Amino acid sequence: MTKRYYLFLGLLLYNLGAGGQADPKAYANLITPAALKENLSIIASDAMEGRETGTRGQKMAAAFISDHFEKRGLKPPVNGSYYQHFDLYRSVPGEVYLTAGGSRYKNFEDIVYYGKDNSAGEVPLSVVFAGRGRADDYSQLDVAGKGVLIMLPQEGNYREAIAAARSKNAAMVFVLNTKTREEFKEYAQQFESFLTEGRLSLKKPQSTNSSAGMFFIAPGVAEKIFSTTIEKLNVAAGEGDRKPALKKVAAGKLAYKTTVDVKTVKTENVLGYLEGTDKKDEVIVITAHYDHIGKKSKGQGDLINNGADDDGSGTVTVLQLATAFAQAKKDGKGPRRSILFMTVAGEENGLLGSEYYTQYPVFPLAKTVVNLNIDMVGRRDEQHKESPPYVYVIGADKLSSTLHEVNESMNRKNTNLVFDYTYNDEDHPARLYYRSDHWNFAQKDIPIIFYFDGIHEDYHMPSDEVEKIEFDLLTMRAKCVFFTAWEIANREERIKPDGK
Ligand SMILES: [Zn+2]
Repeated sequence: MTKRYYLFLGLLLYNLGAGGQADPKAYANLITPAALKENLSIIASDAMEGRETGTRGQKMAAAFISDHFEKRGLKPPVNGSYYQHFDLYRSVPGEVYLTAGGSRYKNFEDIVYYGKDNSAGEVPLSVVFAGRGRADDYSQLDVAGKGVLIMLPQEGNYREAIAAARSKNAAMVFVLNTKTREEFKEYAQQFESFLTEGRLSLKKPQSTNSSAGMFFIAPGVAEKIFSTTIEKLNVAAGEGDRKPALKKVAAGKLAYKTTVDVKTVKTENVLGYLEGTDKKDEVIVITAHYDHIGKKSKGQGDLINNGADDDGSGTVTVLQLATAFAQAKKDGKGPRRSILFMTVAGEENGLLGSEYYTQYPVFPLAKTVVNLNIDMVGRRDEQHKESPPYVYVIGADKLSSTLHEVNESMNRKNTNLVFDYTYNDEDHPARLYYRSDHWNFAQKDIPIIFYFDGIHEDYHMPSDEVEKIEFDLLTMRAKCVFFTAWEIANREERIKPDGK
């Protein structure tokens, strides 16, 4: 044979691959229940401690995923790394205290500061007693620029009372809504976990002295502020509904300080890149979130939220899709377009990893063809206990009717799942179109599909375990995503938003 002939044969083989005529079935069959189970048993094991963003468990999962990508020969696309690092921020209470009558009170012991203010040093304040804080309580009081103390039952609406005080230009509001120090301590504990484990955000919170907030105080603190007893304050406020007018209590004095600390949480998305052939500039992004909600802080028994379904199932699906496409490429049948396999962090904190990626994309968003997002695909919900194999398909037709048709036809040809479009309605009360990582891509006008199995009884519970995953069903759903991805990657025409 001549060199020329070799060249011709090479071209022929290349065209087979490039023309999308290679049979995807052989590669789909590399996605097996056994392989999915093997990986999920690691990703969702107790050792991963619920994979909360920023924790050791999340980092261990990241290492496992990047190792998988490396072994399959995927490229590290982030300046030679599989990791796209990013920082998240959380505001937590800093130095907070209150002094009155010679005593100094600590946050979460006798006081709770609920706000985000960095007071400029220690703030001295004259405090007016406003009884139950009702409109007529203020009729004879001037509270402008002063502190206001209000007594409420614990179930009382303190937000309303605070708003009323603020509307009279009170400088700070103090609420007494417990009867004993023990009762207060219990109340304070609920706030402590809530305030110290506050929401993570991508934006660094700015310290302010405008969002003043408020204090809850223990009964003993109120007594110190006014140099009186709770009994006398109760009498002054008036008992019962048909109260007499608020009796005047001599103004009290206190000083307080509040600071807010900003904690930085370091985390990472994990990306594996498979370069395409003749259309390699165009990229398909296949996502799942590998983070979850970590461990329960208290309780008995199993405290680890394993997140086998949420979203261990999507994560191992991405890994198997990477395996299948990487093998196709090794056989000279790789996709024409490039594929980015990306498992993201921070989803459970508000889709933060995908938000970061779409803010700082590794491949231009203009060249990003489609995002296929897989979040919870290993189980059945209540509505489908007896149903033939199904999957909820969300968002496929929102931006591109072609994408919807491709997904439908590939499923008809290959996997025959029942596509349930219940949650595709943007106005469905569950609002699922907005609730996973695809949403950040959709906002950038990139067509998306979100594959989902429904809300089940173990959602965000330690009982979301590997044992409850239906691996045959998971395999069918994974193949369904695979075939759609294969077609999008190999078809001649790029998928585009309708009208573009
Ligand atoms: Zn979740």
